[in-house]
Amino acid sequence: MRQLVFAPLFSGSSGNATYISDGRDAVIADAGVSASRILAEIGRLGLDVSLVRAIVATHEHSDHVSGIGPLARKLDVPIFATRGTWEGMGRQAGKLNEGQRRVIEAGSGFSVGDMDILSFPTPHDANESCGYVFSLGRVSAAIATDIGHINENWLSCVSACGIVLLEADYDREMLLSGPYPFELKRRIQGKKGHLSNDDAAGAAFRLCCSGTRQIILGHMSKINNFPELALKTVENALADEGVCPGRDVYISAALREGASGVYSIRED
Ligand SMILES: [Zn+2]
Ligand SMILES: [Zn+2]
Repeated sequence: MRQLVFAPLFSGSSGNATYISDGRDAVIADAGVSASRILAEIGRLGLDVSLVRAIVATHEHSDHVSGIGPLARKLDVPIFATRGTWEGMGRQAGKLNEGQRRVIEAGSGFSVGDMDILSFPTPHDANESCGYVFSLGRVSAAIATDIGHINENWLSCVSACGIVLLEADYDREMLLSGPYPFELKRRIQGKKGHLSNDDAAGAAFRLCCSGTRQIILGHMSKINNFPELALKTVENALADEGVCPGRDVYISAALREGASGVYSIRED
């Protein structure tokens, strides 16, 4: 029986990386911490680093790509990113072979082994940011973080994925009353900033209706959010809509530092 394994290794403004595998091949999405820390978390979870065939980047912000060049060189694998993301990364990725620089279009698909990978454009203040859906036959998992607002475009791409890593960056009250300068508060809440817990709750309801069964809340701010609050906000909102967390859908929170666990879905 085929299954897709999905393991968030780091999630948040101090670094992001996720390991996705179908048991034969694997992909690492984003590398916003050092290569050695990413490899250490993969090892700690007992996942196989020798299966990694590619790295995919969502966008050029350093919390997503600061370790991407060293990781690609260490594993000798290509990096897939949009043209805008490559331009934004500039020399940050360091020296790569021509074959390691793969340019994709946001909205297009490509394959790594048996896994089909679809990129979809996300509204965020980066050159050409995207999220990804990883599919193996009829099962799929998605990364939907660094998103300024909910729109049908990305939500329809992520709909019906069995597992979704969904951004719940900040609690609105905490952000507004918190220490960030006014401009930064405005940026975070802007149409090209980040999703709040309330936004995540709205998206989570739509995902539940589409058949998503595991939602991992991620990219949480250290200053303007905490996992219990994000979980409570989303679970209460779902309960108000008649969705029972724990029965209809499993909601969890990704850790900022270190692996959150190994999620899986199988084709039945
Ligand atoms: Zn980010
Ligand atoms: Zn970002």
